[in-house]
Amino acid sequence: SSRAGIVVTGTEVLTGRVSDRNGPWLAEQLRIAGVDVAQVIVVGDRPDDLRRALEFLGSTGIDLIITSGGLGPTADDLTAEVVGTSQGRRSRLDPELERQIAAIVASLNERRGWQPDPVATAAATRKQALVPDGATVLAPVGTAPGLVVPVAQGRGGPPVVVLPGPPRELQGMWPAALADPDVQAALAGRDELRQRTIRLWGTPESELAATMRESEATIAELEITTCLRDGELEIVTRYGPAAEDSYEDFQAAIQSAFARTLFSSDGRTIDEIVAGALIERELTIATAESCTAGLLAGRLADRPGSSAYLLGGLVVYANEAKHNLAGVPVQLIADVGAVSAEVAEALAAGARERLGADLGVGVTGIAGPDGGSDEKPVGLVYLCVTSKDGSLARRLNLPGSRADIRARTVLTAMHLIRE
Ligand code: ATP
Ligand code: MG
Repeated sequence: SSRAGIVVTGTEVLTGRVSDRNGPWLAEQLRIAGVDVAQVIVVGDRPDDLRRALEFLGSTGIDLIITSGGLGPTADDLTAEVVGTSQGRRSRLDPELERQIAAIVASLNERRGWQPDPVATAAATRKQALVPDGATVLAPVGTAPGLVVPVAQGRGGPPVVVLPGPPRELQGMWPAALADPDVQAALAGRDELRQRTIRLWGTPESELAATMRESEATIAELEITTCLRDGELEIVTRYGPAAEDSYEDFQAAIQSAFARTLFSSDGRTIDEIVAGALIERELTIATAESCTAGLLAGRLADRPGSSAYLLGGLVVYANEAKHNLAGVPVQLIADVGAVSAEVAEALAAGARERLGADLGVGVTGIAGPDGGSDEKPVGLVYLCVTSKDGSLARRLNLPGSRADIRARTVLTAMHLIRE
């Protein structure tokens, strides 16, 4: 199959000030497109380093090179020029592209209320409109256009796709890059793969391994990777068009073995599933959170359209707040302690009543590192989801740091809401 190399440029990425999102994203897209990724190279904003990286990748016999970053108007943005030269091509001003970029920049500045120096702006625009001879321009998503630069005639080597650094722009431009005729020709030998994702909650990897051994015959044609992500077990399967039936059999086997813990077989995340279920059943929700202090409400509000179901949340850290805001009886806290099943239930009921929601969620626990005891250790968390039909409760003993405990509490609450 076809192979590609990726060069991620940017001193901010090289030095770790910005963590690379483009290399991994491109690698994933290429895999889905049936292309193997041979190398990902990170270089700073130094033309010589980029030139050497391109030379090296060109010498490995790969079919395509993709670069990210360095297309901006500033002096350290040199990718287009370096790629052009490496491909044996001279650059020329593209007047139509220059007009197009000027219009985008003018409208951006207008919206931001900026009035930059017109001479500097024109110079920057001209720089971004320099196109290597014979290259194809990919329309800008932000201000910078992308390029597909074939190697000049008489020289061997793969074409180079030049994409902008900001992940939103790079991702927006990718479909056009992949559809480019030179890119398609370079990747002619690829086999397109399908990718499907199944997610389980509360199944250890060892159990999954046993099931996979049983369906060994079915999965021979499938490329399966499993990964434990914050307690959710993710099974990603890639396969060619001929293996669709095998995949269906494999999915059925997982479904029957893990009927209770399988929560997503169509790639949807727990957040999407909770949102979908609340909207479909026209239910509203409210929270009263002690140890997570609003993280759960924040998580529920992450998705656009969350106002359809999230009414609000109470942050009830101190015992007085539990009483004053969520109506937890003072005596109850005195009798059983704030970290208890009873208080979690009272918080859930309080959130539900005070906000007039269909579902109330109560969270109380000890996130640590201080405040634990033999009886109530750090990591002890009580959750409760209550509705007019009754309550679901959980008692957890979570390991890890304060941040781990709070994050896992929120995730567990999301799964409890789904139930
Ligand atoms: P610009 O016009 O914004 O300068 P550019 O194509 O020149 O576009 P860069 O200068 O390389 O892109 O990067 C601009 C910003 O985009 C970086 O400061 C960084 O915030 C983000 N960025 C660039 N590369 C990456 C990357 N690999 N991963 C995550 N973010 C990135
Ligand atoms: Mg830049």
